[in-house]
Amino acid sequence: MNEMKVTLTNIVENPVLAIESAASNCYNSTPSVDGKIMKQCFKSGHQSVLEFADFTFHIEGVSRSLLAQLTRHRIASYAVRSQRYCSEDGFKYVTPPSIEHNKKARNTYNQMMEMIQTAYTELQAIGIPNEDARFVLPNSCETILEVKMNGRALMTFFNERLCSRAQWEIRHLAEQMLECIKNHDTQCAKFAELCGPKCQKYGKDVAFCPEEHSCGRAPRLRDIIDTYNKQ
Ligand SMILES: Cc1cc2nc3c(=O)[nH]c(=O)nc-3n(C[C@H](O)[C@H](O)[C@H](O)COP(=O)(O)OP(=O)(O)OC[C@H]3O[C@@H](n4cnc5c(N)ncnc54)[C@H](O)[C@@H]3O)c2cc1C
Repeated sequence: MNEMKVTLTNIVENPVLAIESAASNCYNSTPSVDGKIMKQCFKSGHQSVLEFADFTFHIEGVSRSLLAQLTRHRIASYAVRSQRYCSEDGFKYVTPPSIEHNKKARNTYNQMMEMIQTAYTELQAIGIPNEDARFVLPNSCETILEVKMNGRALMTFFNERLCSRAQWEIRHLAEQMLECIKNHDTQCAKFAELCGPKCQKYGKDVAFCPEEHSCGRAPRLRDIIDTYNKQ
């Protein structure tokens, strides 16, 4: 198994400038030096201007199971390792922590992966094309991909996938993607300040959790409404 590896491979030179230049058409304004206009647009709900910044990530060491979840985010562009053109002979696979930390489960899991690897190679050896041999491959099979999202779609992605209710692998990916943006430069860090789980969707000062089973990070919307109705 490889470690998950996420790199920010391409970005508009200055995402805040791209967003604020777009906004300047609306407000006859000049882009700010500190991301003030971007933040105002975000808070007021004028979020279409966030679509003028693009972020491209290269991702390795993730499962095809993660891929299925990631590609549900439709406002994005994807380029994924092909299981038709590339051989998955000796494929690497992701092991969930619950299995990794349980010796019995880990043995069962690893044995099954070996059996699948053998079956895949045997099918190839008797002339079955990759596109058909891949039908035996597991969800855990590792893949490599490139994904591009605009700033608005990326925020929606972070809202859903940084939530503690999100599945561990895609949550880990979202955390790494956000780290890449935070660490890229000071302008990207300003954009990253607006990104977070859905309890922070409307900004950190109006945080609430829409989930029934909340992690407790923010007050539950249901509790806020109940309290209001009792007053
Ligand atoms: C915790 C969790 C559990 C999930 N469980 C399941 C599950 O059990 N089964 C399952 O199938 N999926 C599941 N999903 C996936 C989920 O239903 C969404 O497909 C996924 O989160 C992508 O969200 P999105 O559609 O908002 O994103 P995008 O496709 O990137 O869309 C972004 C936004 O654009 C707008 N938009 C995009 N396309 C349209 C459209 N056609 N019409 C109108 N507006 C549009 C919407 O406002 C949308 O929010 C789960 C997601 C999470 C986070």
